[in-house]
Amino acid sequence: MESYEALLASITPSTGQTRTILDPATGQKVGDSPVHGTEDLERAITAASAAQPAWAALGHEARSAALLRAADAIDGSAEALARLLSREQGKPLNGPNARFEVGACSSWLRATATTPLDPEVVVDDGETHAEIHYRPIGIVGAIGPWNWPMMITMWQIAPALRMGNAVVVKPSEYTPLSVLALAAVVNRELPEGLLTVVCGGREVGARLTEHPAIGKIMFTGSTATGKAIIKSSAATVKRLTLELGGNDAGIVLPDADPQAIAEGLFWGAFINTGQTCAALKRLYVHEDIYDAVCDALATVAAATPMGVGLDEANVLGPLQNKQQFDIVARLVDAARDSGARILLGGDPDPGQPGYFYPTTLVADIDNDNPLVAEEQFGPALPIIRYGTVDEAVTMANGLNVGLGASVWSADPAEARKVAARIEAGTVWINSHGGVHPMIPFGGAKESGYGLEFGVEGLKSLGVPQVING
Ligand code: NAD
Repeated sequence: MESYEALLASITPSTGQTRTILDPATGQKVGDSPVHGTEDLERAITAASAAQPAWAALGHEARSAALLRAADAIDGSAEALARLLSREQGKPLNGPNARFEVGACSSWLRATATTPLDPEVVVDDGETHAEIHYRPIGIVGAIGPWNWPMMITMWQIAPALRMGNAVVVKPSEYTPLSVLALAAVVNRELPEGLLTVVCGGREVGARLTEHPAIGKIMFTGSTATGKAIIKSSAATVKRLTLELGGNDAGIVLPDADPQAIAEGLFWGAFINTGQTCAALKRLYVHEDIYDAVCDALATVAAATPMGVGLDEANVLGPLQNKQQFDIVARLVDAARDSGARILLGGDPDPGQPGYFYPTTLVADIDNDNPLVAEEQFGPALPIIRYGTVDEAVTMANGLNVGLGASVWSADPAEARKVAARIEAGTVWINSHGGVHPMIPFGGAKESGYGLEFGVEGLKSLGVPQVING
């Protein structure tokens, strides 16, 4: 097992400009990140162009074997990676957090490396024989956010590499060390130049999205940045997969058992302390069981420990950055001022060193309140009362985003009927937010387009080519 110190040392720059990265839980220094510019981006693209043809020529089997070795390398450095992720991002080691995220990186890489993608025969009628094949795109640009920095990077790079592409990664400026460390471990098994991380700010991301040598952008982040990328990539007609913001609704039907669903509702909303794209961000509960669901949720929430990530007891952490802390505080304060009832939380301790916002539940809140209508991306859940299922579906569909949603009921068949009426890329029944390497994932409306994972995900990292005849 690689040590944390050795891993951190391996990504610490010896020359050039650097930036100090602070732990959001304690304010202490985690490490130094390089500060890259557009000339570093050019170097990465030149190296990628040189490495990609030979990688593509290896074929699926040899590429898969290299990626499986890289998955083993991640497992060999798992604890060091998890500690670094916990310190930089803030998420605890335990619970569905840092160790879980690192574990997902190796399991996703294995699944992506071993999923078959055979040519598809579309017509074979004796006269015509047509097949679809998927050729490599060339160089893929991967731009990611700060909430699940390692896992989302892996979601982007694993299918890109598997399909024979080179990748240039631009991590969030908030969590560069996590992505550098993951790439350093993976790179032990890859040819030089094939996978490079360029740690710049927005200007580097923007240049990547307009660069003529880049064939595709895999982007996960806010809807506003997604729209900017659509514009900046237009001149070179880049392929895009856009996983953008969400504001997922959960609908609890009147027959649900509040005690039985409370734990699932809680983690659906508060996984990664609410900083998750497809987290439950507005909960609609039928009036008959409204109070019982609020009470059951408050009991689970009050018993779930939040604190510094390296403390093994904690399963909720701080917000990753001040900007996100301020968004959550503003939305909860506005909800309180509007007359909504704070069931739990809502009172951050101003003397604390980290960006801790307490687990917050807000009841008796109107559907047009900003805490409901805007993406809070933090540990504050609004709970809205409804009278009829039609009314709940109308409110769930009332926003211009549609990443995920969920329906909670004792009768899964009834829940599936309601699910079919919701405008979202995924609707879960009696759970929220679970992803699987073989189940496609993507958004509806302004939550983006393109699918990740499974066979659909592999196809989106290739250029379809029809061989007719
Ligand atoms: P963000 O859009 O601010 O930043 C994401 C990345 O884009 C960063 O690396 C940033 O440097 C880069 N960037 C910024 N401006 C750019 C530009 N003009 N051109 C190219 N790159 C640019 O998002 P964030 O605050 O880091 O992440 C939080 C958001 O991401 C939330 O809205 C969340 O819902 C969303 N998200 C979505 C998914 C999903 O799968 N749909 C997953 C995680 C997060």
